[in-house]
Amino acid sequence: MSTIMVYTPALTHTKRNHPENNGRISNLLPILDKFGVLDDIVQIVPQAATLAQLRRVHSATLIERIQQVSRHGGGLLDHGDTYATSDSYELARLAVGGSCGMVDVMMNGRAKNGIALVRPPGHHAESNRVSGFCLFNNVAAAARHAQAVHGVKRVMILDYDVHHGNGTQDIFYDDDSVLFISTHLFMPRFFYPGSGSLQEMGTGKGMGYTLNVPLVPDFGDEGYCRIFEELIYPKAAEFRPELILVSAGFDAHWRDPLAMAGLTLTGYARISRALVEMADAWCNGRILFVLEGGYEHEALTYGILNAIYALLGRDDIYDPIGAGSQPEQDMSQLLQALKRRHLLF
Ligand code: ZN
Repeated sequence: MSTIMVYTPALTHTKRNHPENNGRISNLLPILDKFGVLDDIVQIVPQAATLAQLRRVHSATLIERIQQVSRHGGGLLDHGDTYATSDSYELARLAVGGSCGMVDVMMNGRAKNGIALVRPPGHHAESNRVSGFCLFNNVAAAARHAQAVHGVKRVMILDYDVHHGNGTQDIFYDDDSVLFISTHLFMPRFFYPGSGSLQEMGTGKGMGYTLNVPLVPDFGDEGYCRIFEELIYPKAAEFRPELILVSAGFDAHWRDPLAMAGLTLTGYARISRALVEMADAWCNGRILFVLEGGYEHEALTYGILNAIYALLGRDDIYDPIGAGSQPEQDMSQLLQALKRRHLLF
């Protein structure tokens, strides 16, 4: 069974001097080709999301607003730096539709796993609010699509972007059929978006199905590895997902200009492999990586390459950047607090 990829670089969704610009993944394919992975992947042609696919996760008001701003030539969508161009509505629909299409191919048994290299990113887009460079929530729409069309009962979304996935949390906060786990830097007022404390655990029947891991600066490979083994793995094992979706942001790399985390490319690769192994054990291999942030182009490119190596079941890791110079913070206390809240034993 094969690994699939959808690639929607959204070249006309861009803004000068903006970190989320069309240069992020525009040069990716020749590099993937050079490293010999492109021939091993089946590329899927993306279709624009239907209104029904968008409406599963967003209000009609939000969808119409983005459409209107695009129709009038583009502009800012919020008080921050979330922009649209005249093409953004259609391109954001393509990112959602491409992600949902990947779910179709996997759920129909024609592929094992895949990666959606899409722009604009999605995990900050809430049900009724765009934010953080995100228009429509690609990963949330893919999860709902899997449930609505393919009858998947339990979806796990792991968000390892360095920013909290506030949009995905908002959409599934009262839902016990989607386990949402986000690891992110957490410094209210200093670091975007400021949400994602360990007290935010869900509401109603969704209580316990949101797991936030709020990290201090300079968390690194070893700390993340402990969090994965001692907290995320047992939590996921208890939930037993039928499908794993990954909000794959590569801005937790130590060299990313927008953050101050300490992961290396090797650390990211280890996480990706562990997730693929979980999918192999519980989900018949079904795992879909959906691109989110990542603003240092070399770390982004090779982060993606290593994720593809993991999906293909290859042992290769390419890490030409290596480790940063900051020592890692100890996470034992945070880990204890999270285990007390989230694990039954
Ligand atoms: Zn991010």
